[in-house]
Amino acid sequence: MKKRVLIIGGGVIGCSIAWRVARENNAVTLLERGRLGREASWASAGMIAPQAEAQAPGPFFQLCLRARETFEATLEMLKADSNIDPEYDREGILYLALNEQERDELQQRAQWLASAGGTIDELSVSAARQLEPAISPNAIYVLRMPLERRIENRRLTLAYASAAVAKGAVLLEGVSVKRVRVNAGRATGVTTNDGRDFEADVIVNAAGAWSGQIEGPGESLGSYPVRGQIICFDGRPGQLHWSVFSLGGYLVPRRDGRILAGSTMEEAGFDKSVTLAGVAKITRAALEMAPALSELPLRESWAGLRPATRDFMPVLGPSPSVPNLFYAVGHFRSGILLSAITGEILSDLIQVRTPSIDLAPFSPQRFASKPKISTIALVRDILFRSRIDAVAQALGKEVAYVSDLEQALKQCDEIKPTTLFVDLSESGSSTASVGARVRALASTVRLVGFASHVDLKALKTARDAGFDLILSRSEFTNRLEELLKQS
Ligand SMILES: Cc1cc2nc3c(=O)[nH]c(=O)nc-3n(C[C@H](O)[C@H](O)[C@H](O)COP(=O)(O)OP(=O)(O)OC[C@H]3O[C@@H](n4cnc5c(N)ncnc54)[C@H](O)[C@@H]3O)c2cc1C
Repeated sequence: MKKRVLIIGGGVIGCSIAWRVARENNAVTLLERGRLGREASWASAGMIAPQAEAQAPGPFFQLCLRARETFEATLEMLKADSNIDPEYDREGILYLALNEQERDELQQRAQWLASAGGTIDELSVSAARQLEPAISPNAIYVLRMPLERRIENRRLTLAYASAAVAKGAVLLEGVSVKRVRVNAGRATGVTTNDGRDFEADVIVNAAGAWSGQIEGPGESLGSYPVRGQIICFDGRPGQLHWSVFSLGGYLVPRRDGRILAGSTMEEAGFDKSVTLAGVAKITRAALEMAPALSELPLRESWAGLRPATRDFMPVLGPSPSVPNLFYAVGHFRSGILLSAITGEILSDLIQVRTPSIDLAPFSPQRFASKPKISTIALVRDILFRSRIDAVAQALGKEVAYVSDLEQALKQCDEIKPTTLFVDLSESGSSTASVGARVRALASTVRLVGFASHVDLKALKTARDAGFDLILSRSEFTNRLEELLKQS
């Protein structure tokens, strides 16, 4: 039966869903507050990179691997329906370590990737430099990820949008949704900020980092924006063939010669500024990876807001309280990669078919009950948070993250966790003062500190300050499962 499907948000996710759902002969209307594809989907680097982005094995990594297959399988159909070439490039990723600590980290990553179904090999630095002469002679270890891909994300979003229109969807720009209207447990339509009503049989919230601002059944998805900045340089076409990654950043070439350098991971609310600190971080990482590119002229810079959730995984599925309201949000660092599979999954759900993957780990239901938090983590690095979270989730544990000592103390007071993790390199306070203030408030919490480097002096200071355990960052990562089990 033909359904009236209303999609909120015209980023890569909303447009992909619009296309796939319109292909099933439904009456699709998409409402976009600004212009189509001009938010995170425009700011992105466009990598189709399940392996370079993955922080740990588990359902999210498996979803990302499947997403890459779906991408390949649907690309020709997309080109045919849209008449747009989204510039899908099959060159992979070279992942560099520039010091021994990074090499340890990449070796660990290579191990779990290989056992979880990834395709990866180690290259000698000279072999890597033959493939890609621009990479630094100071690299000490290189992983090749030959199946990673990239795409011109701006063209991709427009391709989904054009394909959707070709299949009969109506895409409206400049229409901001205020509220999803619910009557007797069913969504009946939406009301816009300028007071217009749109009726629908099915509604999809695909409003990216803003999804939580739309009023409705009152569900919290725990969604929030994470800013990412990019600097774009004018290179020559073919100057860089592979995308290049390090633990500090990445370089991604475009067919027209542009080279994108990224990125930052910042909690800065809805502020899309490019900042001095962001530019400094990105350029430092870019020069370390490829000093040969140091003469490239600067072209432009921009920032976008990644849609994150509390556990850094997407939210895909029906609302727990309103079954004809669906969520397709929280794609965080991988929305381009996940766009094709998200369109497919949502169209399966709307057609009442069973999707090809188990959606339980991505269900909105997971945020419905208030979790029992056992661990607070004073960790600013958002990628590292997602790594902790992947391990915590596998153990059924909940971790709450904070960015400074004051927030950590407040949470300790309110939640009474069993364990407090502190990244001492980033806590913003000295080890002694962290220990003294935590111990004054929470004498029994298990206080575990870690830092990039721990010597005897640091160990003694931490012990004297009341820490139960102090570890180097790599030891902390190795022992994370054991530490969380005890929490
Ligand atoms: C710097 C950076 C680099 C990235 N690199 C990669 C990468 O290499 N690979 C990858 O896979 N992913 C990457 N990402 C992540 C990816 O860009 C996002 O996950 C993806 O774009 C999210 O798509 P979306 O459609 O959910 O959100 P958006 O593109 O932000 O779209 C949401 C849309 O909803 C609209 N909207 C909001 N509120 C309303 C409302 N009330 N009414 C109507 N419309 C509304 C907004 O205007 C917006 O257009 C990157 C992101 C950034 C910022």
